Amino acid sequence: MFIGHYAVALAAKRAAPRTSLGTLFAAASLADLLWPVFLLLGWERAHIVPGPNPFLTLWLDFIPISHSLITLIGWGVLFALAYRQRTGYGRGALVVALLVVSHWVLDFVTHRPDMPLYPGGTPLGLGLWNSVTGTLAVEGVMLVAGLWLYAGATRPRDRTGRYGFWSLIAMLVLSYVGSLLTPPPPIGVAFAIGAIIFGWLCVAWAAWADRHREAIYST
Ligand SMILES: [Zn+2]
Repeated sequence: MFIGHYAVALAAKRAAPRTSLGTLFAAASLADLLWPVFLLLGWERAHIVPGPNPFLTLWLDFIPISHSLITLIGWGVLFALAYRQRTGYGRGALVVALLVVSHWVLDFVTHRPDMPLYPGGTPLGLGLWNSVTGTLAVEGVMLVAGLWLYAGATRPRDRTGRYGFWSLIAMLVLSYVGSLLTPPPPIGVAFAIGAIIFGWLCVAWAAWADRHREAIYST
């Protein structure tokens, strides 16, 4: 899943209004920020095979550290502790931890069986990716709901707060559509570095846009 993770992060702003959208993005996509690093290190493995639809070309052969439920709970706790230490915002720390773990649940629903509960465990997955229409419908509805919640929980402080935010959403949607229309690149060093840069670009863009908006609710 791609846009669905960011949709949940957008929605989470309602629950933790003082947490930057950049932090919420980083938490929801943490597994996908770590994964290319572990690919580079040779600790995790994936490959590309032409598939019946664009979602089914990526085979995640071995992703126990970035994408197992147990390790994601661990990453979530670490992220939340670091966040709480830095900001003192307990509610935000809890939301951050839940977002990190939400990644497993969403990927479990979308992926083929490649999501283990723990390193070495049987890979699980419900395979929503088998249906292009189903995947687009689910991620589209999630994005609209996330946008609605985020836009209702914040208001722009200035023009950047309005256009910065909508440019972020346009960039995400265009990247998503682009990835479906272009053939996938082979998994290698260039792919991994590109994925790291893209992941952090999304986080930085969200943090920047969010700084130009203010929360309507304060909890
Ligand atoms: Zn993932």
